[in-house]
Amino acid sequence: MTQQGSVFGAMLREFEGAARILNLEPGLWRMLTHAKRQIIVSCPVQMDNGEIEVFTGYRVQYNVTLGPAKGGIRYHPGVTLDEVTALAAWMTWKCAVAQLPFGGGKGGVICDPTNMSRRELEALTRRYTAEIIDAIGPDKDVPAPDVNTNEQIMAWFSDTYSMHVGHTSTAVVTGKPVEMGGSLGRREATGRGVMITARESAKHLGFELTGSRVAVQGFGNVGSVAAELLALQGAKIVGVTDWKGGVQNPTGLDIPKLIAHVAEHKTVLGFAGGDALGAADVFKLDAEILIPAALENQITEDNAGDIKAKLIVEGANGPTTPDAHKLLHERGVFVVPDILANAGGVTVSYFEWVQDRHGYFWTEKEVNERLEAKMVEAFDVVLKTAQKYKVDMRAAAYIVAIGRVATVTRMRGMYA
Ligand code: NAD
Repeated sequence: MTQQGSVFGAMLREFEGAARILNLEPGLWRMLTHAKRQIIVSCPVQMDNGEIEVFTGYRVQYNVTLGPAKGGIRYHPGVTLDEVTALAAWMTWKCAVAQLPFGGGKGGVICDPTNMSRRELEALTRRYTAEIIDAIGPDKDVPAPDVNTNEQIMAWFSDTYSMHVGHTSTAVVTGKPVEMGGSLGRREATGRGVMITARESAKHLGFELTGSRVAVQGFGNVGSVAAELLALQGAKIVGVTDWKGGVQNPTGLDIPKLIAHVAEHKTVLGFAGGDALGAADVFKLDAEILIPAALENQITEDNAGDIKAKLIVEGANGPTTPDAHKLLHERGVFVVPDILANAGGVTVSYFEWVQDRHGYFWTEKEVNERLEAKMVEAFDVVLKTAQKYKVDMRAAAYIVAIGRVATVTRMRGMYA
């Protein structure tokens, strides 16, 4: 039984629909709905005022059947074990949909990075890394950035791990600075994947991106890049919100200028090139495409009815509750699910891991071409599966993912 509002509960509901269609054996069903390993650590950090604070951190390895666990690390006051477990499960399905040789993992630390100094963040990152060090490594579990973590935090993570093992290990983490083994194109990869799946969806639905209106919730790594690349395709970004509020312009926001504004002010609020937009109003905008790119549980039964878009591309993980998804599906809204729409990030993380292990690096053009090919292929497989089983894209993505993990689990057999 999962609790009301449980993120893992939402994952389970999505899983169950597809597992039923696949007629999954009860034993496999049980295996694939339990996390392999959940680690809880306490991370003491001496703060700048001299006091010692203890932060709780998690690392969940949900399933490693297809390869090492892969998944980001989130720093947020609202992190819970339930949320991290759901995110680790989604990583499992995402890697399987994108046909990457990875399992699923996720990490999180309960903290408010907006109120921490650079030194405190470094101390927390190093201590968290040290606390989970036995469980991670290029063949075991390879973290990456997520909400409120970035290249610098990955650099500290990689350095701490390298110091412990006694040699420089670049492949222990992805999303690193390019100078220390990061991949060109990684920063933009998730947003680029969102743009590619939006473009393929528009093609399928029979409308042009050029001139289409797009609303974006969340203007961080994923939302800002998706907006920028969609604008380059000729779409009009008519509204954007972040945690402080939003900005709208029916003739299209100037995204490079908005990105420069956010770099300076840390929020889209106050941008001169548009009018203020209430945080909740982003879902009510007149737009053909909606991109939720903030956090989970944003599109609910309460606001799903307000949405006018005919295409939703889930940049964030778990932005739509299962009940809201049902309402949208009944209304014929085409939803590209998170495990497909935002798989560009982990795909280029995989490319980064491959490059690190070879010690041979690709050009940005090569990275982007390979990403394009992987995303288009994943989209096509999921679309064909949706048509074959007469289900929506979310159920289809789960059918593809669960099918792949289940096949390998059966082949490997039971170690006991
Ligand atoms: P980020 O920290 O760079 O940006 C998050 C953005 O969401 C910020 O603009 C923030 O202000 C905004 N936000 C937070 N709460 C909000 C709210 N209640 N309403 C409106 N806006 C709000 O994070 P990110 O890396 O862009 O990740 C965003 C989502 O995408 C998360 O769900 C994450 O798990 C998912 N994701 C990220 C990646 C990646 O490569 N970064 C890959 C796959 C999925």
